[in-house]
Amino acid sequence: MAYYDFQCLSCGNQFEIKTSPHDLDKVQCPGCEGKELKRIYKYFGMFVKAGKYGGSTGPRGGPGSEPPCAADCSTGG
Ligand SMILES: [Zn+2]
Repeated sequence: MAYYDFQCLSCGNQFEIKTSPHDLDKVQCPGCEGKELKRIYKYFGMFVKAGKYGGSTGPRGGPGSEPPCAADCSTGG
């Protein structure tokens, strides 16, 4: 048993249902009992998160953009 996400093509209802992979063709919309369903893959959300730059824009351009250490970096140690 596993969870699957569907969107009903008849009423647009999105729902999650727990069923067996063998019974996927028996799934129907809990709202209108329609069987025209589109499978929704949530994995898309993960790719969006991974590819986005989340964070405040600081003086540093980013890794590889500037030399790793400038003259100002030399401090007593
Ligand atoms: Zn429906």
